[in-house]
Amino acid sequence: MKLASLAFYLTRSQISSGVRRHHPTMSSEFGVPPNPAELAQLATIRRRRRNLWIVFLSYLPGTAIVGGALNSLLGSDKPVVVVAVSWMAAFMVAGYGVGISRCPRCGDEFHRRGLWTNTFAQRCMNCELPIRPSRPAA
Ligand SMILES: [Zn+2]
Repeated sequence: MKLASLAFYLTRSQISSGVRRHHPTMSSEFGVPPNPAELAQLATIRRRRRNLWIVFLSYLPGTAIVGGALNSLLGSDKPVVVVAVSWMAAFMVAGYGVGISRCPRCGDEFHRRGLWTNTFAQRCMNCELPIRPSRPAA
């Protein structure tokens, strides 16, 4: 009798946890196109990623040009250090913006699933919603 009720309990808890595990993101697996609000949020994620790339790629030439100009203007070699540190801070801010981006469909972090992070992900790491919905699925 006790064993039967335990089995019943286990079955019920497995069913309920299975229901809880069901992800709303199943819809993207079936190719439901994003609605306008989702498209706007995807555009925001793409803009954040673009900003991160711009800050990253402009670091060396930007620091050399701006820092070098300030160095010669002020007659000191310290301004280039300030410019470099400022650029690194901007990179951290831009990286944070990408890191906190949440998927408009499933609400999870777009670039992270568990301990796995991919800043270049072309799809949500959790529900596979493509970041560029117009492109055909790979
Ligand atoms: Zn998602």
